Amino acid sequence: MTDQKVYPVRDDIAANAWIDRDKYQALYKQSVDDPEGFWAEQAKRIDWFKAPTKIKHTSYDPHNVDIRWFEDGTLNASVSCLDRHLETRGDQTAIIWEGDDPKDSKHVSYRELYTKTCQLANALKELGVRKGDVVTLYMPMIPEAAVAMLACARIGAVHSVVFGGFSPDALAQRIIGADSKLVITADESVRGGKQVPLKDNVDAALTRKGTEVCENVLVVKRTGGEIEWREGRDLWYHDLVDKQATDCPAEEMNAEDPLFILYTSGSTGAPKGLKHTTGGYLVYASLTHQYIFDYQDGEVYWCTADVGWVTGHSYIVYGPLANGAVTLMFEGVPSYPTHGRMGEIVDKHKVNILYTAPTAIRALMAHGDDVMNSSKRDTLRVMGSVGEPINPEAWEWYYRVIGNSQCPIVDTWWQTETGGIMISPLPGAIDLKPGSATLPFFGVQPALLDSEGNELKGAVDGNLVISDSWPGQARSIWGDHERFVQTYFSTYKGYYFTGDGCRRDEDGYYWITGRVDDVLNVSGHRMGTAEIESSLVAHEAVAEAAVVGFPHDIKGQGIYIYVTLTDGVEPSDELKKELTQWVRKDIGPIASPDVIQWAPGLPKTRSGKIMRRILRKIAANETDGLGDTSTLADPSVVDDLIENRANR
Ligand code: ATP
Ligand code: MG
Repeated sequence: MTDQKVYPVRDDIAANAWIDRDKYQALYKQSVDDPEGFWAEQAKRIDWFKAPTKIKHTSYDPHNVDIRWFEDGTLNASVSCLDRHLETRGDQTAIIWEGDDPKDSKHVSYRELYTKTCQLANALKELGVRKGDVVTLYMPMIPEAAVAMLACARIGAVHSVVFGGFSPDALAQRIIGADSKLVITADESVRGGKQVPLKDNVDAALTRKGTEVCENVLVVKRTGGEIEWREGRDLWYHDLVDKQATDCPAEEMNAEDPLFILYTSGSTGAPKGLKHTTGGYLVYASLTHQYIFDYQDGEVYWCTADVGWVTGHSYIVYGPLANGAVTLMFEGVPSYPTHGRMGEIVDKHKVNILYTAPTAIRALMAHGDDVMNSSKRDTLRVMGSVGEPINPEAWEWYYRVIGNSQCPIVDTWWQTETGGIMISPLPGAIDLKPGSATLPFFGVQPALLDSEGNELKGAVDGNLVISDSWPGQARSIWGDHERFVQTYFSTYKGYYFTGDGCRRDEDGYYWITGRVDDVLNVSGHRMGTAEIESSLVAHEAVAEAAVVGFPHDIKGQGIYIYVTLTDGVEPSDELKKELTQWVRKDIGPIASPDVIQWAPGLPKTRSGKIMRRILRKIAANETDGLGDTSTLADPSVVDDLIENRANR
């Protein structure tokens, strides 16, 4: 087993942090003993037109799943993110924008963001967008993306952000699913020095049957590249928006009115369009952002996610802006123009808090420590990880190389469905163990169940569920409440089922072991994917690994491993033997690999997560029915793996 190193909370960090050990324990206890009292108090952190008096009304009964928070309160999310900062910090930077080209960057103040939001909100009204209408955003990582989200919120329209890397078909599906009248896009986006034809993709999407609902396309001019134009349907953003009044009254929304729809990443199947509402979501996004990143006034905070994912929603836009933070938005990719870019951005903008994903860390790590030589990164104070379990080896590298062994790492476990972070260290309160998301956030009550639904106590492995509601929770799947109930509330009665497997150790720390769907059963032993993968990543020749089960005559399931080698390492049979021994020694003979296949690349979602369900099909040689592959980042990776399966 990978040894369990502990990084105790540093005294200097605890002394200045929002939450120290004692506060964490006291507040956590209050949050579960008296959720009404705790959340009534926390609700005051955002601005309300009418403060809520009814705090919690939630039922997980599968016959009547009904989740409401702050249900008699009224508010507008854009007011908490913009208007209330004008007096105290109108001239402070709200968004630092860093372009794909290292020469491009700009600062947008809270006042400018307010003005731009109001202008777009007025433009949306002119186009006939009303409260409750769904607006689809298919945009580059430019400030207009945040403006568009906030402008929708301002007039009570519901935004549905579709990641700009998605294909026309995936976009069309999402336009149809949400009955969306308007798409906001750009002519092109720029990533890694290449243009991505966003507007062409929208044009193609709108030829698909069922997209007739969409009446207009509003186009930001980002590059000035060549595009087709459909008169009457297409409108230039600047033509329509720049002439609008710079004030727009904020629509009074009920706390339970929808704020946005967002699709999951599609790692395990067809993506689900989750419905998030206004009051609970905003309270939760703002509270978690402040405490988990220990955000202090004036600090520069950078989340590298795309606004197309929930991480971008909660931790680039809503959480930071509600807190009056300086949030950095990066248009490009961490490998352009060189692999040193991330560190260079940290130095250039004096970033204090960095929040990124294991996939990005592993990609940098494969290039060796020198990739960070072009930067100092000495402004960094806290770092975060999200999206997948972070292998302890990658954690250590992140800590030592990127963070100069100075920054606590918050490994944040959460989901599109949860709206905000659920299990994570707090930098001043919780000792760190590399690879563990550690302990629950306020109001979050995790439990581990066996497959019959019995709650397991103590240090055990089980299915991760949450036993009571929290304000950031999704309320439904858009247009399909039945699927919502089926997916999350019918497997284990009375609990929210996360779909993740998890181990709790003797200190009560939580370790996500992988998706329940991906759990291996080898000769009757159940094993998560994360532990075996982490063992492999700890070998210096391995950059990335993915483990799946495949049918095996004797063991029931055998262990099939896909390995991506570190830069410059040559594949060989010797190395296969060495890796096999390595895993046997590290975890035990039961985890002994049956097959190792070299994989120049792994199939990933567009948010960078390994899609094991596809690898499982390849391992089982069932390559005819790969299922929904619309969320694959690079389909050619799959062809390559299928082709090379034979001569493994
Ligand atoms: P789909 O639900 O469509 O299969 P998805 O689950 O990948 O896609 P997201 O909501 O983006 O979509 O991802 C949430 C999942 O990501 C979690 O359920 C968990 O499996 C994984 N995850 C996120 N953060 C962490 C983390 N810090 N540690 C371990 N796993 C994580
Ligand atoms: Mg999921």
